[in-house]
Amino acid sequence: MKITCKKSGINSKRTQQLYGVALFAAVLFFCSLWTAGCANNTPVAATTETTVSLPVIKADGTDSVLELAPYFTENQQTLAVDELLPGDGLLALYGADGSIVTADSGDCLLDRQGRVSVKAGEPFLLQGIIVNPPKFITQVAEITKQALGQNQRVMIIYLDGFGFDSYQEAEKLGKIPFMAGLQAEKVATVYPSITPVAFAAMVTGQTPDITGVRARADHQPACSSIFDLALAQGRKTFIVEGDKQIIKLAGEAEFNPDMNGDGSTDDEVFAAALSNMEVDLLLVHFHGIDDACHNSAPHSQEALTVINKTDELVRDLCRMWPGKVIITADHGQHEVDEDGKKGNHGDFRASDLFIPLLTREAG
Ligand SMILES: [Zn+2]
Ligand SMILES: [Zn+2]
Repeated sequence: MKITCKKSGINSKRTQQLYGVALFAAVLFFCSLWTAGCANNTPVAATTETTVSLPVIKADGTDSVLELAPYFTENQQTLAVDELLPGDGLLALYGADGSIVTADSGDCLLDRQGRVSVKAGEPFLLQGIIVNPPKFITQVAEITKQALGQNQRVMIIYLDGFGFDSYQEAEKLGKIPFMAGLQAEKVATVYPSITPVAFAAMVTGQTPDITGVRARADHQPACSSIFDLALAQGRKTFIVEGDKQIIKLAGEAEFNPDMNGDGSTDDEVFAAALSNMEVDLLLVHFHGIDDACHNSAPHSQEALTVINKTDELVRDLCRMWPGKVIITADHGQHEVDEDGKKGNHGDFRASDLFIPLLTREAG
């Protein structure tokens, strides 16, 4: 897996950042509002003083927001990240351009604007840091490529909105008897933690700075995916989606509206997957968990009920599939109370960024 930082685009980001400063100052002046929610999103830079707030997810999975100002003396321009996060070892540096750079904390210098440079390289604006990070969602493409290379067939079951904490809770409560028996690891998704951005990273193995899919309105990855690779190898592929196309990918795909009006496309997606089991690479996208978490909050009774039902669908698909299976998600969710929604995602926080990656070997 190659996780790199694309250096181009940093300057335009910087311009946007300065506009952001002006906007931030105005908002601060009129509203005197500074909530943890704001601090959790885009780092904000000031030219005369340091007002950058940096979201940091600690190794134990807790969220914190580091205010940089107290760490800088009056004329100090850069700060060793070791002083900020003493003895924390390996860091995942999430760039505001969608890149992810993993580096030892001892090799990182931070400036007053919230930009980091690794081993005196070109600085880039930071979105947030994960301390001692796990692997990333890009692993899904890596595992798939490896299995295809070994002539295996691969089914990817993509459970939208199934965060790692939801997976852990459901396992503890006995709600996922089938998935609980599979090999599982925690991985980190990309930022922003929203569906198309994570979907593109999952199937291309590249971070959003490379895929170019960095917002909800982006649908076309700028780089090749595992579907291009499989088709080039002469394999048959199929994508089973819910009611709409989220990412444009090579090969055949089928969209499944809620035909029986039961409020979910999962039953239609399940049926469509069952009728396309003869292909070499199959991706099945279930949306029910994400919908339930938005409607009733992650960890709600409704969400747990849908997770429990999804476990049965996953079990039945796995029993019919002769090849390797990868079960994963795009992002998790956190609780909110906004616009009729009880759950949401897209932030730089553990609940949104950590997802399960389960695998089942052929046979
Ligand atoms: Zn999603
Ligand atoms: Zn969602």
